[in-house]
Amino acid sequence: MFLYSEVIMDLGALWMDEDLLFRLLFIVIYAAFFGVRIRYRVESARREPEQRHKTEGMAYKILIIAVLSYIVSIVLYMLAIPWISWSQIAMPSWLRWLGVIGATSSVLLVAWIHSTLGRQYSAELAIQKDHGLVTSGPYARTRHPMYTGLNMFSFSMAVTTSNLLVLLFAVLVIVPFPWIARMEEKVLLDTFGEDYREYMRRTGRFFPRIRQRSS
Ligand code: SAH
Repeated sequence: MFLYSEVIMDLGALWMDEDLLFRLLFIVIYAAFFGVRIRYRVESARREPEQRHKTEGMAYKILIIAVLSYIVSIVLYMLAIPWISWSQIAMPSWLRWLGVIGATSSVLLVAWIHSTLGRQYSAELAIQKDHGLVTSGPYARTRHPMYTGLNMFSFSMAVTTSNLLVLLFAVLVIVPFPWIARMEEKVLLDTFGEDYREYMRRTGRFFPRIRQRSS
């Protein structure tokens, strides 16, 4: 009886200390995200692609700097290092819950996208042996659903933290993606030619195209 009431009191305290609750949710959702990503990353690292394309240029430099800064800021946030508390802002609780919902949906979305893209996935820009053009499921109306899903995830997680620094880096991560997507499309156009050109006509880059573009 004594123990039971202790547990209830602890849960009550956790609920009242919303910051702590969001920090715990942040860690749990990140763990789920890594659970999905690691499996496909490992499978991709084991494949020897037919063509590997160089990923150089400003867009990739910005991406690397933004991702590293984002990682450092979320580690500081997770560990509740006092230094980062200056950038903690007072966001309404409902907005932080919206971040939790957005991030959880993104994990499910990214899992669906990975399972559809299958062995065509790679962390680098590459063409596999017998690389097939994927145009089904999340790829039916959008050319880069994974980039959208990943950015939706890191942005929603940033909203959950209610931390200005984390939010700024999450936005900076999004900036280079139009250029990165364009470079990927050039390689896919070289590989699939008219099939990809036709696929581009009936899809949107990051968001689903509703109406078909006339050729
Ligand atoms: N940009 C895509 C895929 C990211 S993974 C997205 O955001 O969903 C990167 C790899 O996917 C690239 O090496 C590229 O060769 C491959 N790829 C991208 N779109 C593809 C498609 N529609 N069909 C097959 N492979 C694709």
